[in-house]
Amino acid sequence: MKLVALLVLTSCALLSAVPAARQGPPYDTVPAVRGAPLYNTAAQDSPAGVFVSRDVYLMGTRARLSTYAVTHDSGLATLESALAVLDDAEEELSTWRASSAMSALNRQPVGEPWTADARLCRMFSDVWEWQRATDGAFDPSIGRLLAAWDIRGAGTVPSHEAHERARALSGMALLAFDPGRCTLTRRADVSLDEGAFGKGEALDRAAAALGDAPWMIDLGGQISVGGRVPPGGAWSIGVADPRRRDHAALQLRMATGSLSTSAGSERDLVMSGVRVGHIFDPRTGRPATFNGSVTVWHERGLAADALSTALYVMGPKAGLRWAEARGIAVCYLIPERGTLRVETTRAFEDLRIIAPG
Ligand code: ADP
Ligand code: MG
Repeated sequence: MKLVALLVLTSCALLSAVPAARQGPPYDTVPAVRGAPLYNTAAQDSPAGVFVSRDVYLMGTRARLSTYAVTHDSGLATLESALAVLDDAEEELSTWRASSAMSALNRQPVGEPWTADARLCRMFSDVWEWQRATDGAFDPSIGRLLAAWDIRGAGTVPSHEAHERARALSGMALLAFDPGRCTLTRRADVSLDEGAFGKGEALDRAAAALGDAPWMIDLGGQISVGGRVPPGGAWSIGVADPRRRDHAALQLRMATGSLSTSAGSERDLVMSGVRVGHIFDPRTGRPATFNGSVTVWHERGLAADALSTALYVMGPKAGLRWAEARGIAVCYLIPERGTLRVETTRAFEDLRIIAPG
């Protein structure tokens, strides 16, 4: 399972200046994954058409949308419509916005069912399914824990009492989901956090809205691609070295699906000897201890997103066993004695087949 697959050591360029702060999660200045077209697109003479790309700031991250089109203007219009879908998803899912449906759910009085529309109902079915499938390593009902550790602020180690109070208000058992009626009922003052699945869901919605032309949406930590195969047979994706984000440790090729990386962050704080990272082990209620990164490929964005978080929590040993048994494409980058160990599942090697190159 140990291999250096399709992967060439390379370095990636540092990104441009940080945009002005606005409401949303704090983000890393250098993303964990970065996508690009394989061809030098400056010539713009590819048989797939003109290469069009747009950089925006959304979902607390720097995003890049790219496609090929007959004309520059029609390409921009396509990207504009994908952007509108991503914006709507953020408006609906972001708990950084009091107006979102997710925030409304979190405010719903305990014991009173909250009704989701059909699309949200499907999303919650997926969320519940991945929570179960990962034995709770992915569990978005930990909003109170994340708040107790001030993960959206400067980070803190809470008192024992505050930590226990937050733990008692975390866990999917505190939220009853009835997929038939599409209702969710809070059984206690539990709070759902979209951090580990919102980007993936937004990418899936954008994918459904995009057409046949090759496209890529890069949300920093997660990239989805689709449409026809792009010039060169695939998109080029750099996965950052978790020790040095400005260097790509792996260079992959991907022609379909979604690639998500979860990693310790540039923002992680060490307080009283405890590294307070933004990914929590719901089973201990404490920050997960793995110090590398994990990258997951899945056909669906929500699945890739949820799985990279879950596999980060599991760590390489348990995570590789779990993913191998289920045929999931996973790659861990593990800092070890001054080097970086690459461990993958067999399905990850198949990425070469999915995306020949
Ligand atoms: P990123 O936010 O860097 O893309 P992830 O996709 O792994 O990273 O999501 C991490 C976010 O998900 C955290 O910032 C937090 O909001 C939330 N979260 C942390 N731990 C868990 C967990 N075990 N299960 C579900 N959500 C989590
Ligand atoms: Mg995730």
